[in-house]
Amino acid sequence: MKKLLQKIGITKNFFLWEVCLVLLFIAVFMAKMVLFPTITLKGKSRMVVEYEDLYEEKGYHASFLGKDVTKDVKVKGKVNTKKLGEYKITYTYKKGILTKQVVRTVSVKDLTKPVLEMKKEDAYVCPGKQYQVEEVKATDNYDGDLTKKVKNEVKTNKVTYSVADSSGNKTSITKKILYEDKEKPVLTLNGPGVIDLCSNDVYKEPGYTAVDNCDEDLTDKVTVDGGVDTSIIGEYNLTYKVADAAGNEDSKSRQVRVSDKDYAGVVYLTFDDGPQEGTTDVILDILKEEGVEATFFVTNKGPDYLIQREYNEGHTVALHTASHDYAKIYASDDAYFADLQQVHDRVYNLTGYDSHFIRFPGGASNTISRRYNQGIMSRLTQEVQNRGYKYYDWNISSGDAGGTTNPRVVAWNVTSGLRKDRVNMVLMHDIKTHTRDALRDIIRYCKDNGYQMKKINNCSTMVTQRVNN
Ligand SMILES: [Zn+2]
Repeated sequence: MKKLLQKIGITKNFFLWEVCLVLLFIAVFMAKMVLFPTITLKGKSRMVVEYEDLYEEKGYHASFLGKDVTKDVKVKGKVNTKKLGEYKITYTYKKGILTKQVVRTVSVKDLTKPVLEMKKEDAYVCPGKQYQVEEVKATDNYDGDLTKKVKNEVKTNKVTYSVADSSGNKTSITKKILYEDKEKPVLTLNGPGVIDLCSNDVYKEPGYTAVDNCDEDLTDKVTVDGGVDTSIIGEYNLTYKVADAAGNEDSKSRQVRVSDKDYAGVVYLTFDDGPQEGTTDVILDILKEEGVEATFFVTNKGPDYLIQREYNEGHTVALHTASHDYAKIYASDDAYFADLQQVHDRVYNLTGYDSHFIRFPGGASNTISRRYNQGIMSRLTQEVQNRGYKYYDWNISSGDAGGTTNPRVVAWNVTSGLRKDRVNMVLMHDIKTHTRDALRDIIRYCKDNGYQMKKINNCSTMVTQRVNN
């Protein structure tokens, strides 16, 4: 060993020299640690902060002569994260002629990629057509709207949209291009979805159109299933179908309702002011037993289930106003329609039936409304029709609302008024026990004398009285 060291020229003395030098260095270093101040930064001395993020001082520690002097350090410099750039923060400790300073460099950078507002779903192109480049919106946290910077690269089977912000952050979306018609054609019916006709009317098809994204106009290819025979009363469903070249289909349906037309001698049994428990329910039982359909002009009184029974058992639920309060409903046109709407909604909510048949309390000829509003009946009889309602007065009164309480007289009043040469519209009240008790006799009389009884339908003639106000 010694020989080896001598060989390369390191003598014993020289070796000692070296050891001394190392010890000196250590001593100076230790002295510096103790005799000179030190500042240690917490966190990195070079930091990167995202644009508009919060910059947080991570802290520091200073010591001098073995003591904590952190609180004597002066910090200078600020970081504005709303502005890109490099910021320097200096930490300085001064004691007499001794000064210690360290620097932290904070770079505020935009590291966030711009956003392409586009879904990454496959693009379908009609067979034989070319892919049409889409306008894609792009936004960036720093640059704002980058829509105009969006680039696209279209290849046969894929397209890539990309955008870069001013800091070089880049976003791209690649979509497959598939040459396939995935969209169904659009079939549109002209005219209403439900058409009401009367028996033996001529059904005129209102028509339809069909367009497709790839095949364009397909109206000629529409097929219609079903037909309408207006000589037979009932509901007819028409189904319209169309398919495009790729086999995508659309279909629509239309309902045609054919109702019975009026004829001389027909009898409409109509009941006002209900429903009411104890009378309406018995009347419904009798109608069911006798196989007769009637019309109920209801109010907001009485239990809901009786209105549902009326509807479910095939009768026409018609509207008589909610309150039946003359002073209220004939105060103004608006008051009348507000009240009517209430009973309409009650029936609609209970049955789903959108009733448009009405009877004015007191009839269209009433004079009591003069007390509340001059000329209101002249206006209402027009306005209800403008709004799509049909109103029905009567030409036979049973007298059950005041004339009599005797069921035999009620039955006589009705049956003696029936005529074979006109439409017979019979006014009764299903809240009267004497009417309830007269009904069976009335129905039997009609049957025995060849009178057919019907409920009011779309084809029923409006039986109206002379307006007196
Ligand atoms: Zn009434």
